[in-house]
Amino acid sequence: MLGYSHATSGALAWSGAAAALPLTVLTYPAMQSGEIRAVDLIMGTFLTAGAALLPDADHPSGTISHVLGPVSHYACKFISTISGGHRHGTHSFAFVALVTYGTWAGEHWLGRWFTLALVFFLLALAVKALNLGGTGDGPRAWITDIVLAACGTFAIDHWISDKPAWLPFAVGLGSLAHLLGDCLTDRGCRLLWPFKVRTRVPLIDRTGNKVETLIIAPLFALGTLALLWYTITNQP
Ligand SMILES: [Zn+2]
Repeated sequence: MLGYSHATSGALAWSGAAAALPLTVLTYPAMQSGEIRAVDLIMGTFLTAGAALLPDADHPSGTISHVLGPVSHYACKFISTISGGHRHGTHSFAFVALVTYGTWAGEHWLGRWFTLALVFFLLALAVKALNLGGTGDGPRAWITDIVLAACGTFAIDHWISDKPAWLPFAVGLGSLAHLLGDCLTDRGCRLLWPFKVRTRVPLIDRTGNKVETLIIAPLFALGTLALLWYTITNQP
C-alpha cells in the first residue's frame, strides 16, 4: 500500500476508536480516567496517521525513509538489516507491542522531551504521507516537512499540558492499521514473527492501484472526518 493509504487508515482507526471505545482503552497502558478534549482528538488523528507509517522503517525506499532526508534514510537501512528485511520483524504484533510500550516507557521515564521528539517525528511522517508539504523526495520536500512538523510540535506543546496518556495507544493503533493494510496485499505480513506464518487476504493486487488511490484512501479520509465530527459533537 502507499504511504497515503496507510496514513488515512491510521487516521480512520483513531477516529473510530475514539468514537467507539471507553477512555480507559484509549489511555492503555496508563489506564487513566479523565477526558479527551476535541484538541486531543484532532492531534491524535494526525499522530496516528503518522504512526501508521512506522512499520515501513524496514524499507529503505519507503515514505518513512525520506521523511528527514539522509538521517531517516540511513536509519531505515539499519533497521531493515537488523529486522531481517522488508515485512519481517517490523510487520508483526511483536512490533506493535514494542512501539506501544516503548512510547509509554519513554513518556514515563524520559519525560517531556521524549514526547515532543516523538510528536515531531510522527507529525513529519503524517505531513509527508499526506503530501501536505508538497510531493517529491528531494531536500525541498523534506525541509518543508520538517518546518511544518516543527510548527505542529510547538502547537501541541502549547495545547497539551502534560504527557498525553493516549499517545501509546495512538502509536500502537497506527502500527496495527498499517499491518492490516499490508495483509490486504499479495505479499501479506508475518504477523506472528519470528514464526514464519504469512497472513494475507489479497484484495489489493498492486500497490497504488486505482481502487486504492481513487476509492479506499478518499473513503478513509471522509470516514475520519465524519467520525471526528460525531465524537466531538456528542461529547458530554
Ligand atoms: Zn508495510
